[in-house]
Amino acid sequence: MSKTLSHVNGFDVNSRKEFLEIPYAEPRSVVEPSFADRMLIPHTEYLKQARVILGSAERASVTELVTDTGEVVSYDFLVITTGSTFRGVKTKAERIEEFQKDNKKIVNAETLLVVGGGPVGVELAAEIVTDFPEKKVKLVHGGDRLIGFLGQKASAKTEKWLKDRGVDVILKERINLDQLSPPDYVTASLKPVKADAHFLAVGKKLGSDWLQASPFLKHRVTTEGRLRMEPTTQVAWLKNVFAAGDITDFKEIKQGFTATNQAKIVIQNIRKLIKNPEETKLSVYKPLEKPMGIVTLGRVDAVAQLPFLTIIGWVPGLLKSKDLFVGKVRQDLGLKY
Ligand SMILES: Cc1cc2nc3c(=O)[nH]c(=O)nc-3n(C[C@H](O)[C@H](O)[C@H](O)COP(=O)(O)OP(=O)(O)OC[C@H]3O[C@@H](n4cnc5c(N)ncnc54)[C@H](O)[C@@H]3O)c2cc1C
Repeated sequence: MSKTLSHVNGFDVNSRKEFLEIPYAEPRSVVEPSFADRMLIPHTEYLKQARVILGSAERASVTELVTDTGEVVSYDFLVITTGSTFRGVKTKAERIEEFQKDNKKIVNAETLLVVGGGPVGVELAAEIVTDFPEKKVKLVHGGDRLIGFLGQKASAKTEKWLKDRGVDVILKERINLDQLSPPDYVTASLKPVKADAHFLAVGKKLGSDWLQASPFLKHRVTTEGRLRMEPTTQVAWLKNVFAAGDITDFKEIKQGFTATNQAKIVIQNIRKLIKNPEETKLSVYKPLEKPMGIVTLGRVDAVAQLPFLTIIGWVPGLLKSKDLFVGKVRQDLGLKY
């Protein structure tokens, strides 16, 4: 979004890290750290006309935003896309090192515990058994079915796919996160789970603390921590404040492709308001009526829930599993595939 708008007007972007990370490719980068090279993209490579401020938004008023580094950024339009928080490293090289460490963890273990059976935990477990079929993987999930954001069929097919490859799928159990010491993990119901190392896939915290610290925004934050939205992608009852992505409370699944669709509406509407500040015919965002998504199962397979069909195997895998949309995102940013 910043890339497109930078052609319209100077634009400030806030981020704590020096690079964009394409989240879809995180699990693959754990099993193959060199894959991270294309999916970690320094902001300066694709934002040619924007000024990038490295810092965390701390609070905003109706005219300006303050970062944790003390910088005050005044704005005509504010676009909020702080979907989830990233408490990590600053540079691309440091991030690749993190993937290398994770990879060593797999290489040195016989048994691995993946905590959380949402899309991230499932994708990671599937990547491990695909690239390291000799490793034993235990996937512990608190819910009664895997990838609960999709339907029952997708969950059942995914569970079978994992079990067929020797994964221990343990449902309705939660690992005690206060006691993450290998090899003796324990569930909340005190069941022991033995593993040499673990990966957490329990969801990231929403990036909404700073919204709570901003008096004009905090009443627009739901109890879940998301922003109340108008169909025009404006934050409720505000004219010059927009939002897109996981931070919004649009009633639909939180996915990158829906975030991109919202961002397109944000861009159209800001352009209209720049042309005519009194414009009332703004574009409207229509949330998905039915949940849709593709969850990768290793390098070849995937499970896809489409509007009228749920399929598993190499056919849906053709859509995502090889490149994980990295080339597509890079091309959208005007970079080489
Ligand atoms: C493993 C995995 C696979 C996925 N697969 C798919 C898929 O196949 N298809 C799909 O459509 N979606 C997929 N998704 C979901 C998709 O990645 C998210 O829905 C999407 O990234 C949401 O984008 P966002 O910009 O709203 O938030 P994020 O991507 O979470 O980005 C938010 C950014 O804001 C920054 N931030 C937070 N707070 C502050 C602050 N106070 N100041 C400054 N910066 C801040 C964070 O550091 C972060 O960089 C997947 C996600 C994962 C993890």
